[in-house]
Amino acid sequence: MPDKIVKSDEEWRKELTPEQYKIMREKGTEAPGTGEYYHSKEKGMYLCAACGQELFSSDAKYDSGSGWPSFWAPAGADKVETAEDGTLGMRRVEIMCSRCGAHLGHVFDDGPAETTGKRFCVNSASLKLKKE
Ligand code: FE
Repeated sequence: MPDKIVKSDEEWRKELTPEQYKIMREKGTEAPGTGEYYHSKEKGMYLCAACGQELFSSDAKYDSGSGWPSFWAPAGADKVETAEDGTLGMRRVEIMCSRCGAHLGHVFDDGPAETTGKRFCVNSASLKLKKE
């Protein structure tokens, strides 16, 4: 497990854009279909926009039709942590960066059957693509 990065809300506010702060520190969600990486087919590694940890490879990205970048697996089992999320009257599983705790999105069980069957549904604002 990577060493944790812990910063105050004030520090994160300085480092992140207002949109990133709202999503990554306050568990917001970008409007569907609007994110920078939703349609991206570029090759590379998607890093955490807050701490730079490698989170998802473009090799695991697929078109889910959901409105958000979707991956069938993280770049490593220890890259992403999960938590039960009961907000909005739904039972969902939240995903976070294991290094800095940033909210990324949610994971669902309707991913491609020929892969893991998982759909890691991630806000573009939580990601930064390091192109190959
Ligand atoms: Fe992070």
